[in-house]
Amino acid sequence: MAGRLLSIGECMVELMQAEGDLLRKGYAGDTFNTAYYARLFLPNDWQVDYLTAVGTDTVSGEMLAFIEKTGVGTGFIRRVEGRSPGLYMIHLKDGERSFSYWRSVSAAKTLADDAAHLRAAIEACDIIVFSGITLAILAPSAVETLLLELRRAKAAGKRVVFDPNIRPRLWDDKHHMLETISAGARAASLVMPSFDDEAAHFGDADIAATIARYRALGVDNIVVKDGPKGVTLSFGDAPILFVASATVDRIVDTTSAGDSFNGAFLARYAIDDDAGAAARFAAETAATVIQHHGALVSKDKLNGTA
Ligand code: ADP
Repeated sequence: MAGRLLSIGECMVELMQAEGDLLRKGYAGDTFNTAYYARLFLPNDWQVDYLTAVGTDTVSGEMLAFIEKTGVGTGFIRRVEGRSPGLYMIHLKDGERSFSYWRSVSAAKTLADDAAHLRAAIEACDIIVFSGITLAILAPSAVETLLLELRRAKAAGKRVVFDPNIRPRLWDDKHHMLETISAGARAASLVMPSFDDEAAHFGDADIAATIARYRALGVDNIVVKDGPKGVTLSFGDAPILFVASATVDRIVDTTSAGDSFNGAFLARYAIDDDAGAAARFAAETAATVIQHHGALVSKDKLNGTA
């Protein structure tokens, strides 16, 4: 069955320490990483697109070329005069990573400013992916525009997928953060939270509490990720299902564990609607990803999984 997946959010320029004072440039961001892995694992009759806004400057052009090269479509990416992509730098000190961000005026903040464009993109697609980071970077009126379109998509029976990806440093106010994340979940038919974030910020005592809270918001399908332990699936009327994580000998870099899980899960789930099989496949993929450097691991390194 052919189809089209749309992921909505912010892709940033990544600067990583190379040798000495030299920096290596890359591009990453949670929703883009998910699109990347979905593209790797969806069959060729599926199209995967990214929706964001970038500038008209050189680095924005380079980012678009990079995205295209991964096979993810850029046709829904608006170019905004006078803005640039957000940027972050990874510092490595004694094996520990820390991050600095420059994203307060990034072009992606305008991704929902053209409501007609947003509607046309969402209407053209079958699966729509967004995250708590997508919501965190938008002004309240832009959040409303986006959620209105996503609620329409959910009502039309599309698969609307939300990873809360709670990042308190992106939000000014905790109450507003939790309200907006909950509003995002209400617009979704599938929510894919990480239990440690949910426990830390919503105060969930256990995974059952996370599932109950999202169910109460009208979410029919929930995948709660819990790092090395595994994932718990609550899908429609089916009994709750636990899928263990794959064994990892040596963790190299956990960046993108959740994003690669999401992308692999969505790709596999799109093919045959078997959530358990999709979760096992995604667990294998995420386990392989964390045994390699960087957010975007190439297909040849994931071949054992595919
Ligand atoms: P996030 O990176 O979004 O916080 P998690 O830490 O829950 O998400 O990890 C996402 C997925 O990655 C897990 O569901 C699991 O499949 C896999 N994973 C993460 N850490 C490990 C680990 N140490 N061993 C095996 N799999 C892991």
